[in-house]
Amino acid sequence: MTILLYNSLTRKKEEFKPISKDKVGIYSCGPTVYDNPHLGNMLPYIIWDVLKRYLLSQKYQVEHVMNITDVGHLTSDADAGQDKLVKASQKTGESAWDLAKKYSAVFFENMNELNILPSIKYLRATDTIREQIEFAQVLDKKGYLYRISDGMYFDTSKAKNYGQLGNLKNVDQRAGSRVDVNPDKKHPSDFAVWKFSPADEKRDMEWESPWGKGFPGWHLECSVMSRMTLGDTFDIHTGGLDHLTVHHPNEMAQSQAVTGKRQANYWLHNAFMRVDSGKMSKSLGTGITLQDIKAKGFSPAAFRLLVLQNHYRKTLNFTWESLEAAQRGLVNIIKEIAFFDKPALGCPDLEADFYLQMADDINSAKGLAVLQQTIESENPTHAKLCAVLKMDEVLGLGLKELRERALNLPPGAQELLEQRKLVRQAKDWTQSDKLRDKLSELGVEIRDTELGQNAVQVKL
Ligand SMILES: [Zn+2]
Repeated sequence: MTILLYNSLTRKKEEFKPISKDKVGIYSCGPTVYDNPHLGNMLPYIIWDVLKRYLLSQKYQVEHVMNITDVGHLTSDADAGQDKLVKASQKTGESAWDLAKKYSAVFFENMNELNILPSIKYLRATDTIREQIEFAQVLDKKGYLYRISDGMYFDTSKAKNYGQLGNLKNVDQRAGSRVDVNPDKKHPSDFAVWKFSPADEKRDMEWESPWGKGFPGWHLECSVMSRMTLGDTFDIHTGGLDHLTVHHPNEMAQSQAVTGKRQANYWLHNAFMRVDSGKMSKSLGTGITLQDIKAKGFSPAAFRLLVLQNHYRKTLNFTWESLEAAQRGLVNIIKEIAFFDKPALGCPDLEADFYLQMADDINSAKGLAVLQQTIESENPTHAKLCAVLKMDEVLGLGLKELRERALNLPPGAQELLEQRKLVRQAKDWTQSDKLRDKLSELGVEIRDTELGQNAVQVKL
């Protein structure tokens, strides 16, 4: 099947052609672990999980790598301000190491709850310091670095095609409005590869290097880790739209400077999530977390569905009403498929259109529409169930498990169903309705068919 992906590098949809015939390498920029992630922070990982699941459904082997930033990400992406972990540490009194450990654990828990495939190779920035220094040494030897008061900087004017990614036409004006930009930088777009520890301060996280004690610049780790795991050039690099103008051009420039090759062939960027049409941000108090929505009775799968109802390159406006609607939609899907018969021996092919829609730049919104149409179609229920579960191997809503849970009825329900069966045989409809009400009180819903009564209780 021809798979189209929108490549930010060429700014158009292109046919996906992996470097090797049956294997795909994906590198996803991971989280900076200094706080609880909000829903907008988690959104990209759902999207790239679906991309990966889709490639798996098309029989590719997928190697997926992600970094965990636990040092060096400053409050401004352009190397100004404080290290996010140091800032959090000063606020809470916990060490940067403890914070990184704590919030990495929260991140992994969120990934798990959102049903993201665990087959991701994670690398921590602090575990690859030696490799990052070696990489920076190559840059230094090749003449790309220069020293100023607070660190070693990459001279972007020496990089071939700097700013091609992100379409940075006027690179020099790019960082102009930012505060605290070191005025000694030769060009505003130059970025730190190695930052020096402040002379008057002992950092929790600092290392010796050929240039002096300090820590790596944030962009360095992704160049180094992707090369360590996926090689000089790999297939797909993913990240949020915010990475398109600073982090990714910088990463790409460093990698190309060292290897002489293009770092990745396809650069995919997800649009952001907004809250009630405003920015989702912790400092604005709009940083809603997965724990927050769970506390209000919403399931992580409902959030996943909400994300997938939108195409990943379109801004998603989060409202509680939209989450409610997604949860209702999810409950309806589960109810429908719980009433379906289990697949018999064969499994007729009803999902071809789904794969086709998904092949168009991972259009999960259209994929979901096909899933819904399949449920409502006139096909035999066992065939529909089989197709829906296959589609869900890509969408990852966990429908198989949710269906099984829905069929697992609460204590007492079975007896009421037996009684109802008998009164219905005796055509006592009044009793039948009374028993239905009793079952309804237990949260059990019944559908009467020619074959008898089917009962489900949806538990998210
Ligand atoms: Zn990155």
